[in-house]
Amino acid sequence: MDIDELRDKILTGDRRSLARGITLVESSRADHREQAAALLEELRPEGRQALRIGLSGTPGVGKSTFIEAFGMMLLARGLRVAVLAVDPSSARSGGSILGDKTRMERLSREPGAFIRPSPSQTHLGGVARRTREAVALCEAAGFDVVLIETVGVGQSETVVSEISDLFLLLLAPAGGDELQGVKRGIMEIADIILVNKADGDLKATATRTCADYSGALRLLRKRPQDPEGFPKALTVSALQENGLDAAWDEMQSLTDWRKQSGHWERNRAEQARFWFAEEVRQALLARLETPAARTEMKRLADAVAQGQATPTAAAQDMLASLDMA
Ligand code: GDP
Repeated sequence: MDIDELRDKILTGDRRSLARGITLVESSRADHREQAAALLEELRPEGRQALRIGLSGTPGVGKSTFIEAFGMMLLARGLRVAVLAVDPSSARSGGSILGDKTRMERLSREPGAFIRPSPSQTHLGGVARRTREAVALCEAAGFDVVLIETVGVGQSETVVSEISDLFLLLLAPAGGDELQGVKRGIMEIADIILVNKADGDLKATATRTCADYSGALRLLRKRPQDPEGFPKALTVSALQENGLDAAWDEMQSLTDWRKQSGHWERNRAEQARFWFAEEVRQALLARLETPAARTEMKRLADAVAQGQATPTAAAQDMLASLDMA
């Protein structure tokens, strides 16, 4: 593959080349990894930045409906929108909650939009690392907003928040008991909570739910990087396309504030540190996954189990065999 040509085409915003670039970064073949690294390094000096928005919510809460409506609204404002997914289910089973192609049909037909399902990888960390690189490619291709969608289960919100500038949590109208079911951890990383389905019969419940979440958010420690009133909860109806403009206004005012205070740049710098360390960690772990290393691990584990070596001494031998002692 001609990396220079791919770089030039991605820089023109060509979506097919962007898709090819993402396929390249998702590949685990050693030669592809090398080419992907070269491509990303060549695009880095361009310094193009998009607003990266993480979005999490449980299945059925209305993520695709929201992204489609919100994306269409952004397009109408002249912005180009990319949608990527981090799907922990695809990491575990190869199947995907988020990946199906018929989602967001309107948005997927728009020339200013780009939609990419979750890469399938064997572990969540792998999915997130590749998604981070896909985000960088979308930025190089000139997208103004990159939405990174994830299902609200397990660790996926945390890794997505490490890729995002802003983090949105989409919730359904609910009774007071269910409020307690929302994990504190995810409340703490959310910048804006959107209570969806605030329409028809559900509208009153949604308004009440929103007030409950607002109260809960006020009890959290105010973050030094944020203006008064954040994090905050809002009601929206993705289906009726209500509240989307207001939500976008809030995202913009939070972004402006963070940019002016320097937090935005600092946060990206911290994220870069995090992913650097993560790449090193994962590369070290990968050295245990070669056939020779597995065989040696098994041999030494058996020796330990049979009392022929202490765990510590055997671990030293293992690291020595990897040239890492
Ligand atoms: P996802 O699994 O989070 O992507 O959820 P979907 O976007 O597929 O939506 C799940 C269901 O909720 C669908 O039947 C949608 O039509 C419905 N839904 C989504 N947004 C709204 C909304 O704002 N109001 C109402 N009443 N239903 C909605």
